[in-house]
Amino acid sequence: MRRKIIAGNWKMNKTVVDGQALVGEIKKEVGKVNDPVVLVCPPFTALTEVAMALKDSEIQIGGQHMHEADSGAYTGEISAEMLLTSGCTYVILGHSERRALFSETDKLVNAKAQKALAAGLIPIVCVGETLEQRESGAMEKVIEEQISGSLDSLSESDMKKTVIAYEPVWAIGTGKVATPEQAEEVHVYIRRLLAKTYGDETANEVTILYGGSVKASNADGLFEKENIDGALIGGASLKADEFTAIVKAMM
Ligand code: PEP
Repeated sequence: MRRKIIAGNWKMNKTVVDGQALVGEIKKEVGKVNDPVVLVCPPFTALTEVAMALKDSEIQIGGQHMHEADSGAYTGEISAEMLLTSGCTYVILGHSERRALFSETDKLVNAKAQKALAAGLIPIVCVGETLEQRESGAMEKVIEEQISGSLDSLSESDMKKTVIAYEPVWAIGTGKVATPEQAEEVHVYIRRLLAKTYGDETANEVTILYGGSVKASNADGLFEKENIDGALIGGASLKADEFTAIVKAMM
C-alpha cells in the first residue's frame, strides 16, 4: 500500500504567531489523522514553534528547501541536520519556484535528495512542465529529464522512501488546476519511468502527489484517480478550513 500524503507548502507566508494559530486550527480537525499523512511545511523561522504546537498530534513538519552540504560558509542556507533537529521529517526539493527563481538544476536537486535521505529526511521531489513545454509537445521529455536527473543513482530502498510531486508549472498559484485525467496521465507516465529503472514493484510503492491549485472543491475528482496519492498544496494550505477539507477528502 502506498503512503497517502496531504502536504501544505506555506512558502514565504506566516509569522511564528500566525503559524501557531493556523496549526492550532488544523490540529482541532485532523490532529489525530495519520492516513493520509498530514504534513505542513512552514518557513524556517516558524519550524520550531510549529513543531512544539504539534507535539501531541500526528501532524508532521517539513522544510521547503535545504542545502546539500553538511555545514559551512553558506550564508542564509539551512542543512538537513538543522531541519531534522527542528522537528522535520520531510523536505520539499526542486519546487518550480526554486528551479525558476533560484536556478536549481536537476543535478543540484539530486545532490540535495541524496543528502536528505542520508540524513533521514524524506524528500518530496517536485517535477513539472511549463505551459509552453506542454503546448509544444515537450511535456514527456521534460518530465523524463527531471525524473532521471533529480533521482539519479538513488538506491531502490531510497527510491521507495522518496515522494514525487507532479506540479505542472502552469497550474501553480494560477487557479488553473489540471483535470484529474491530465494529472493521472502524467502520474502513470512517471510511474512507468520509475519502473524502467527500478522495476514495477518499487515503482508501485512510490507516492506521487499532485500539486497545482488544489482546493477543497476540486480535491475529490483528483483523489479518485488510482495513481494520485495525495497533494502538495500552496495557497489553500494557508486556510485551515480549506486544508482540513482536502485532508478529509483523502480519508
Ligand atoms: C505549490 O506551490 O506547490 C502549489 C501547488 O501552489 P498552489 O496550490 O497555490 O497552486
